[in-house]
Amino acid sequence: GTKVVWFRRDLRLNDHTALSRAVQDAGEDDQLLFIFHIHPKLIEEFTVRHDYFFQTVHSLDEASDQLGAPLHFLYGDVDTAFKQLFNQMEDIDSIYFNYDEVGFGKERDDYMINWFKEQDITVYSAIDHHIHSAKEVYKQDGSYYKVYSPYYKKWQQLDKPEIRSVDHMKIEHHAVDVRDRFKKGQNKWSSIKEQFEYAGKDVGEQAALDRLDWFLDGVIYDYHKERDFPAVDGTSLMSRFLKTGAVSPRTIYHKVQNETDGRKGQQGIDTYIQEIAWRDFYNMIYHFYPNARDKEMVEKYRGIDWNEDDEAMERWKQGETGFPLIDAAMRQLNETGWMHNRLRMAVASFLTKDLLLDWRLGERYFRERLIDYDPASNIGGWQWAASTGTDPVPYFRVFNPTRQSERFDPHGRFIKQWLPELENVEKKYIHEPSKMSADKQEQSNCIIGEDYPEPIVDHKTMRNKAIDRFKNVKD
Ligand code: FAD
Repeated sequence: GTKVVWFRRDLRLNDHTALSRAVQDAGEDDQLLFIFHIHPKLIEEFTVRHDYFFQTVHSLDEASDQLGAPLHFLYGDVDTAFKQLFNQMEDIDSIYFNYDEVGFGKERDDYMINWFKEQDITVYSAIDHHIHSAKEVYKQDGSYYKVYSPYYKKWQQLDKPEIRSVDHMKIEHHAVDVRDRFKKGQNKWSSIKEQFEYAGKDVGEQAALDRLDWFLDGVIYDYHKERDFPAVDGTSLMSRFLKTGAVSPRTIYHKVQNETDGRKGQQGIDTYIQEIAWRDFYNMIYHFYPNARDKEMVEKYRGIDWNEDDEAMERWKQGETGFPLIDAAMRQLNETGWMHNRLRMAVASFLTKDLLLDWRLGERYFRERLIDYDPASNIGGWQWAASTGTDPVPYFRVFNPTRQSERFDPHGRFIKQWLPELENVEKKYIHEPSKMSADKQEQSNCIIGEDYPEPIVDHKTMRNKAIDRFKNVKD
């Protein structure tokens, strides 16, 4: 019969649990059919994130086409789309996919698993997206962790899953290409491709592995020192590839273990693995707090009275707050679809504590703009910064945006890269350009209020307000 492999956020041909299993299971007379289902919801609001995601789909399509196994696109409501598929190909007997543990994907998968069974299709749904899934890391009494450091201790002790290798020769042998039978999906796919704008070259499985090799070749040894400086290319940039599944977290884990040399910098390696485990942690948290996109995890903070101020929100989005590091960060996001981790913390803290705006607005904006948007990590990160999560930054430790700037971009290199209007500002004023005298402003070609804004808030005042709101929240 025909075995269907349903790709979703696992757009690669190696170390892929569902694919590996389907290929193993394929007997001499069986065929393999690769499917990608385009949900109408995915393209309703086509943002940079979807653009990047579908570029990765394109990259997978090209790679699998070379094995004679191109993607077959389905379009429409998921059950209707599969119904049509089964009508067209009556010998389909089983379907393989990697199960989603959170969010929209989980709802879809729970529904579809039952639905496939009703159609008499054998379902193989694998746990694949994380090194340790949501339910694998728990305390001795069976409850789950809410705080990261004990979680990580336990995480470290567990045996790590092996690479799920995929026999590409066998794919070539069993693949079918029946694309001409899937007109509707194929047409939809063509129209998506026409919309592509994202011009990034860092798309797909090969790009992921190249970048990872580059990172493991040297940068990782200084990761613990360099990862906080946004002007330095000192992080792995794996998030976009993990999000699309162009690389598997197991591959990252094993490559780090096997292809680095601890004598060159064990601390860098250890710190990196710890970050990778954060991704698992937030996946677990989101699994146990499925409402976390809308609701504060800590119940008593659901009563916080956030400000409403459309203009401030807009200034934050556009990078026009008058705080150079914050503004440079937002422009990096708007222009590239990615933002450095240190800056995500800084801008999220700024939105929630300096502007006292609702973290949900920030979460939503990141959702629109980030090519690595991952609901679990994004909600986790926002609730961390807003001090409403399970293991957050304490509400009384408010980031000072100017100090952050002095510490993590001491020469203003990052700032100048994204804010050309500050190009001629002296180092002494780069973190607080509004402190320049009228003469200085003239000399540096940067008139405050014209070329670059005054700070939209006074940090000290807002810091105290924020602390008061948390302190006085009604239980
Ligand atoms: P590296 O420093 O090279 O880290 C390696 C990998 O570890 C990352 O790719 C990521 O998978 C994981 N990782 C690192 N830090 C974290 C973290 N704090 N939480 C979860 N995983 C982590 N990450 C996303 O992937 N998607 C998001 O939507 C997202 N939103 C965020 C929102 C806020 C407010 C904050 C504070 C953080 C957010 N992060 C998010 C986490 C982090 O900023 C990014 O994973 C990181 O900047 C990606 O760059 P990198 O791959 O070069 O990271």
